[in-house]
Amino acid sequence: MRILVTNDDGIYSPGIAALASIASRFGKTTAVAPDVEQSSMGHAVTHSRPLSIKKARLDFNGVEAFKVNGTPADCVALGWHLYARTDLALSGINMGPNLGNSMWHSGTLAGAKQAVLFGVKGIAFSVSTGKMDPDFTALAPYVEKVLQLLIGMPGPALYNVNLPARPIGIRWTRQSVRLYDGAIVPGVDPMGRKHYWFTVKPLAPADEGTDRWAVENGYVSITPLLLDLTHHDQLNHMQQQNPL
Ligand code: MN
Repeated sequence: MRILVTNDDGIYSPGIAALASIASRFGKTTAVAPDVEQSSMGHAVTHSRPLSIKKARLDFNGVEAFKVNGTPADCVALGWHLYARTDLALSGINMGPNLGNSMWHSGTLAGAKQAVLFGVKGIAFSVSTGKMDPDFTALAPYVEKVLQLLIGMPGPALYNVNLPARPIGIRWTRQSVRLYDGAIVPGVDPMGRKHYWFTVKPLAPADEGTDRWAVENGYVSITPLLLDLTHHDQLNHMQQQNPL
């Protein structure tokens, strides 16, 4: 099996080092990731300037690592082009969770999503972070277990996996959907100029069975996702109520 690994924190993040090392136990792995952090870029692609790729002097357990001056989706597209016969794309391990609404702007998830658009399985991994970096050695058995579970699932599919800092188990979950939790917070810079931060404000506890609920309760969350955003019930309703 050929595996392509990317992330949105950049090729020098400890998260991609951990994921590429674990992936190498499952197949021939290549890491292609942005040269600088591209978090919250969502599924942005670069089409108005050329992309370049350079080999990085990194050792992810024997995995070759390349850096690209682009987004996570660019990296998967370029990796897909240069390293044919990719069977699986992994994205992460992101330094920070990608739960519920975060999926909409997650560059980590977009890396996996780009692979699904090419027709192969894509799995995004993210971990909750505190004041210290995550303990990737302690998390590795959970990442490995998730890969064993998902690689065996039939067909191309998109999965969003979130790990708490110290997991106690694994749960199948659905996306937590609430009204958007982004908040604009104004501030003043040292020169007295007004500026703004786009922040995420804490929400009330999530419903049981959701991704947020799982991670808040110490479980690794695995959410299967669809690319089809069509609201099928509403479409059927509109077609019946107002046939065109
Ligand atoms: Mn990130």
